[in-house]
Amino acid sequence: MTGTDSPPGGVAQEQTALERYNPYTGRRVVAGVEDNVPTAAQLGLEPPRFCESCGRRMVVQISPDGWWAKCSRHGVFDSIGLARR
Ligand SMILES: [Zn+2]
Repeated sequence: MTGTDSPPGGVAQEQTALERYNPYTGRRVVAGVEDNVPTAAQLGLEPPRFCESCGRRMVVQISPDGWWAKCSRHGVFDSIGLARR
C-alpha cells in the first residue's frame, strides 16, 4: 500500500498489526496465504459483504452510483469514496 491519500476515517495506518478479514469471503486474512477474490470484486464491481476490520457481515445496498456497505461497528463504506482514493 503506497497510496498518497488517506482513506476516509484515517485509521488504516494503525491496522498493520491487527487482524484483517477478506471483505468478500469473511475469512481472516493470513499473511502469505492467498485468498480467492472474485474477479468482479477485484474490478470493484462487486460490493464487499464483510467488514475488513472485524469480519462482521455488513448491510450492503446497491445504489445507482455504485454501492455502500455498513458495518455495525465500523460504519459505512461506499464505492464512491473508494473510487476517489
Ligand atoms: Zn467492522
